[in-house]
Amino acid sequence: MAQSKPTAVAPSPTQPQAGNRGTAPAPQIRQTQLFIGGQWRPARSGRTFDTINPATEETIAQVAEGDAADVETAVAAAREAFETGPWARMDARQRGRLMLRLADLIEAEIDELAALEALDNGKPFADARHIDIPLALDALRYYAGWADKIHGQTIPINGNYFCYTRREPVGVAGQIIPWNFPILMVAWKWGPALAAGCTIVMKPAEQTPLTCLRLARLAQKAGIPDGVINVVPGFGPTAGAAIVKHPGIDKVAFTGSGETAQIIMRQAADQLKRLTFELGGKSPNIVFADADLAAAARGAHVGIHLNQGQCCCAGSRLFVEDSIHAEFVEQVVELSRKRRVGDPFDAATEQGPQVDRAQFDKIMGYIAAGKAEGATCATGGRRVGDRGFFIEPTVFTNVRDEMAIAREEIFGPVLSVLKFSDTEELVRRANATNFGLAAAIWTRDIARAHSVARRLRAGTVWVNCYDVFDAAAPFGGFKQSGFGRELGERGLDPYLETKTVTVSLEERHIP
Ligand code: NAP
Ligand code: MG
Repeated sequence: MAQSKPTAVAPSPTQPQAGNRGTAPAPQIRQTQLFIGGQWRPARSGRTFDTINPATEETIAQVAEGDAADVETAVAAAREAFETGPWARMDARQRGRLMLRLADLIEAEIDELAALEALDNGKPFADARHIDIPLALDALRYYAGWADKIHGQTIPINGNYFCYTRREPVGVAGQIIPWNFPILMVAWKWGPALAAGCTIVMKPAEQTPLTCLRLARLAQKAGIPDGVINVVPGFGPTAGAAIVKHPGIDKVAFTGSGETAQIIMRQAADQLKRLTFELGGKSPNIVFADADLAAAARGAHVGIHLNQGQCCCAGSRLFVEDSIHAEFVEQVVELSRKRRVGDPFDAATEQGPQVDRAQFDKIMGYIAAGKAEGATCATGGRRVGDRGFFIEPTVFTNVRDEMAIAREEIFGPVLSVLKFSDTEELVRRANATNFGLAAAIWTRDIARAHSVARRLRAGTVWVNCYDVFDAAAPFGGFKQSGFGRELGERGLDPYLETKTVTVSLEERHIP
């Protein structure tokens, strides 16, 4: 079958492609400065950095480059808001109302925000509009509902005492997020922190600062008091590290790579800072011969290629039972061949560019390694066009467990297909990784589904589906995929301290 030839049409931010844009408006760049204590300000150093449109490699805007001096100011604002500001005295129910108002303001601008996200990140406008932002709204509204439902217990301890617990906010949360789901990561971080009554110093990824800054503006408009949310764009080793090391930060929530998490953990050790990590994965997606193969093929396709393959939970190791291997792989390869790669603003586009040149180079390096190690590149494997960081949806077959493409996180549209015949052996191989973020099983055998789900060492197991997210369902990793959970009731825990209050009920008679 002839390889389809996707063409990468790259829109300029000021002159987007006309005709095929669907409902995408031209995004306005309004916020490019630091947001500290409710004010927009340049970096103390006066420095800025470029944020790039990965579809065109053109600069979209210059953004203020915060560093340790700006983090100092941001932490001071967040501490003041936490300790003495209106936020500290506000009724929990009112906090929830402000969060709902923020969600409503985001929803009112959903098209423009989706366009800004597509411009800065490269993801298809339609994905940002119909996947990322609806999930972000879901998280904000879900946690708004928690704000007035966080409470302690009374505990029947021995003796004549009244003992109760209080659930108190942990304090100022430092939140460091990646570039793959910028708006969604903001919502997953702000939601539980605000519900708990914390204040925030956030550093968005250098590749994608624009929507986070826009959301800070909307938070202010919603009435969230100044100083509660502070945003310091900048680089990891400067602004990020300053957040991690600052004694005024009580807790760090980080999503990104394991390497950076190790640096953060070492740097936070001096102050025994509370940490939660959402890191990478090499998630097994397992297809048994009795599965609905058409559904499983779509699940395998979306599981790897969603968001240009830049998903921590990507189903990047596809284990296929040998009796259906040939037939199944053909379906998966066919779907990859048909995937439309191109202009994120074209309504027909399913896959945009990778986020930046570093990611592009890393992925192309893995593709070269896969070929060199003897895997078969069944489709894809090449750059698309010569401008922008577009890569063909790629499927490798004849992959062996020890190859780099089967072991390491590629974070791109590259699938490794592995064959299995025995369930015991399969479970062992699926678990033979330092990661443990997600897994999926495709089968019609209900006993096998539950039994394999129990034995897989992963924080999320999908059965006959993939990438199903809900704000109420906890998400996070076993092993080196992280610790702590985001979303659901468990997602509140890292933002809360438990205080035990014990009161003597001994009546003291004053003579
Ligand atoms: P990264 O370095 O871990 O970046 C994530 C965030 O951490 C960014 O905001 C980054 O700032 C910041 N950071 C970097 N060094 C820091 C430090 N020393 N102290 C505090 N914060 C720091 O990830 P990346 O370099 O963008 O991507 C590398 C790989 O990480 C990817 O190929 C992928 O495998 C993995 N990744 C995983 C996820 C996920 O969702 N789990 C997301 C993104 C990437 P900068 O803006 O300066 O980078
Ligand atoms: Mg980076």
